[in-house]
Amino acid sequence: MSVIGIDFGNEGCYVAAARSGGIETLANDYSLRATPSFVAFDGKKRIIGVAAKNQQVTNMKNTVGGFKRLLGRKFNDPHVQHELKSIPARVESRNDGSIGIKVNYLNEDQHFSPEQLTAMLFTKLKETSAAAMQTQVNDCVITCPVFFTNAERQALLDAAQIAGLNVLRLMNETTATALAYGFYKNDLFEEKPRNVIFVDFGHSALQVSACVFTKGKLKMLASSWDQIGGRDIDLALADYFTTEFLERYKINAKTNARANLRLLTEIEKLKKQMSANSTKLPLNIECFLDDVDVSSSMQRSQMEELCAPVLQRVEQTFKKLLVESKLSLDDIHSVEIVGGSTRIPSVKQLIEQVFNKPASTTLNQDEAVSRGAALQCAIMSPAVRVREFGVTDIQNYAVKVLWEGDGTSSNGEVEIFPQFHPSPFSRLVTIARKSPFVASIVYGQQVPYPDQTIGTWKIKDVKPTERGESQDVKLKVRINQNGIVLISSAVLVDRKEQEEAAAASEQAAADDKNAGEQAGPNASEQAEAQPEAYFENEDDNNTSTASSPGGQGWAQRVKGWFGSGNDKTKKKTKKDIELPMEPITHGFEPTVLTSYAQQEAKMIGNDQKETERIDAKNALEEFVYDMRNKLQGGPLERYVVESERESIVAQLNDLENWLYEDGEDCDRETYTNRLTALLQKTDPIKLRAHDYEQCPAVFEELKNSI
Ligand code: ATP
Ligand code: MG
Repeated sequence: MSVIGIDFGNEGCYVAAARSGGIETLANDYSLRATPSFVAFDGKKRIIGVAAKNQQVTNMKNTVGGFKRLLGRKFNDPHVQHELKSIPARVESRNDGSIGIKVNYLNEDQHFSPEQLTAMLFTKLKETSAAAMQTQVNDCVITCPVFFTNAERQALLDAAQIAGLNVLRLMNETTATALAYGFYKNDLFEEKPRNVIFVDFGHSALQVSACVFTKGKLKMLASSWDQIGGRDIDLALADYFTTEFLERYKINAKTNARANLRLLTEIEKLKKQMSANSTKLPLNIECFLDDVDVSSSMQRSQMEELCAPVLQRVEQTFKKLLVESKLSLDDIHSVEIVGGSTRIPSVKQLIEQVFNKPASTTLNQDEAVSRGAALQCAIMSPAVRVREFGVTDIQNYAVKVLWEGDGTSSNGEVEIFPQFHPSPFSRLVTIARKSPFVASIVYGQQVPYPDQTIGTWKIKDVKPTERGESQDVKLKVRINQNGIVLISSAVLVDRKEQEEAAAASEQAAADDKNAGEQAGPNASEQAEAQPEAYFENEDDNNTSTASSPGGQGWAQRVKGWFGSGNDKTKKKTKKDIELPMEPITHGFEPTVLTSYAQQEAKMIGNDQKETERIDAKNALEEFVYDMRNKLQGGPLERYVVESERESIVAQLNDLENWLYEDGEDCDRETYTNRLTALLQKTDPIKLRAHDYEQCPAVFEELKNSI
C-alpha cells in the first residue's frame, strides 16, 4: 500500500508519494513531474495530461482545461460565465442548470460535468502513481484552494470518489505547504513559536496564509486570497499584442480561437523568460493568421506596466493578510514562496515591500503543495510509519446556524464559527422546540460563491414533553477535516439533565478560551442574545484522523454523521434521544455518483482496450521493419533458403502496405493474429540462427557430412 498527496492545480497537477525513505515527487508517462490539468477526447479514447495539452491546438473543441474553477457550480453562475471565456470547449447548461461540457467522444457528442473531468484527471494521476510505485494506490490527501467553499469542496470529494480514490483529508493548499516546511524543520521550533507567511501565486489564484509553528505542530492563523494568477498576466499581455497586431498586420487574433491559443502559449514562454531577464525579448509566431508571420518584443518593465492592476491586487492581498493575522512585521520570521507566478521579480519585490522580509525559497516552488499533502497522508494512514506532526487548520469563512421559529418562538440565528476558527471542530447549539423544524447552515460573510447556504437539515421527531412543554434539541455543527460544514447530529436532551448540560457548556467555553482558540463568540454572551438557544464547544482536533474519510456517498455521509458524536457528549447526556435528520446540502445524490463511477470504470476499460489495440498494431509494425532488415542483408539472411526468404519479404511488404491502408484501424485480435502467423514462419529461422550461434562446430560438421 502506498499513500500519495495530490496538488490539483488549475494549470497542472503534482503527485508526491510517501515511502519509508521520505517524500518523492512522482514522474508521469512523459517522465515529467507536472501533469497538465487537461482532458481530451477523440473517436477512440480519452487523452489525459501531457498528451492532451500537446494536441490542444489541433483538437480544440474536444480538449478541456480550466475545470478546477467550475467545480460545484451552476452554468449561470457569473463566475462560470467569466471562466468560460477562456475555455475553448463547448459548454452548455443542462436541464437542472448544471454545467455540461460537450465533447465528441467515440464519434458521438457527449456531455461531462466538471466533476467527471476532474475524476478523469484523478484516474490518470492514480495510474501514474501506480506505475511509479509498482503498487495499487487508494489512500490520498488532495489539496484545494483556501477560498474553496462547501460546494466546491464537496464537488472535489465527489470527483475523487468517482475515480475510486479514498480521500483521507481535503487539505488547504497553503496548509499543505506549511506542513512541507515545518515537518523537516521541527528541531528549530524548540525555543519559541515561529510565525511564517506562505505565499502561493499560481495559475488562477493567489493565496497567502500565516502559520505559527511550535515543536511538533503547526497552526494556521489567517489567510487572504484573490482569484488572480499567472493567466491574468498572460491575458493582459495578450490584449496588448492583439492590439499591436491589429494595427501593424491588420489581423485580429481574437477572431480565431486557435490563433488566440497560440498567442497565449508564446506569451507564457515570453513571460517566463522575462522573469529571468530584464532586457528586451522577442515574440515571433510564424503563419499566425492568414499565413502572416508576426513579430514583436517586450521587456520586463513594460510587462509590469501592463500588469499593474494585477500587481496592485497582489499587494492588497498581502496587506490584508497582515491585518487579518494581527501579526506585526517583527512577529514574522520569514515569507516562504511557492507557485509558478512567485517567480516574477515584481511579486518578490512586493513581498519585501509589504512584509519587510525577502521572499524565501526554502521549498520546491512547484512541488511543495503535493509533498505536504503526501506527508499529511502518511501521518494519517496506518500504511506508512512517520513521526506525528499536529496540523490545526482554519475555517476561512464565518459560519452561522439559522433555525425557524415555531408557534411560540421566533426564528433564530447564531454565528457558530467566526472566520479563521480552528478546524476540524464541533460546536453544540441547543434550541428549545416542540415540533420538527428546519435548521440551516449558511456562511456568515460574503463568499466567492453565489449562494451563501451550505445546507438545510430537517430535524424530525421533535415532540413536546408530556406536560406540553418544549424540549431541548441539541445540534452538533461540525467543520470536518475536509473543511465541509454540516450538522452531524441532533439529539433530544432529557429535561432532567438540562442543568448539567448548561454547566458543561460553560466549562467547555472556558476550556475553549484557555486553549487559546481564535476569538470566538462567548457561549454565555450568545445565550443572552439568543434566549432560546445556547451553544458549547467540542474541540475535536484530536479526532481528526479518526473521523470518517471524505469521498463517501451522500447516503453514507449522512449515516456517518449520525454516529459521529464523541464520548464527551454521550457521557453528559445518557438519556439523549438521537433524532433523524433530512439534510439537503451540496454534492451529488448517491445514485448519480454511482452511475458516474460506473461510467468512469467503463471509460477506463475502453482506454485500456484502445491502448492494447495500439500496442498490438505497433508491435506488428515494428516486427515488419525489424524482420525485413534481418532478412535482407541482416543476420538472418543466411539461415533461410532463398525462395522462402523472398516469399516472407514479399509478405512483409504486403503487410506494411496493409497497415497504412485497410489495416490502419483494426481490432487488436486482427493485429495479433497476423503477427502470430508471421512468427510461425520466422521463428524456425531465428531458432536455426540461435542454435548455430550456440554450437557452430556441430553445424559445420553436419554441413560437411551432407
Ligand atoms: P492554481 O494554484 O492557481 O490552481 P497551478 O497550481 O496549476 O494553479 P502553478 O503551477 O503554481 O499553478 O503556476 C503556474 C503559473 O505560473 C502559470 O501561469 C505560469 O505561467 C506561471 N509561471 C511559471 N513559471 C514562471 C516564471 N518563471 N515566471 C513567471 N510565471 C511563471
Ligand atoms: Mg497551485
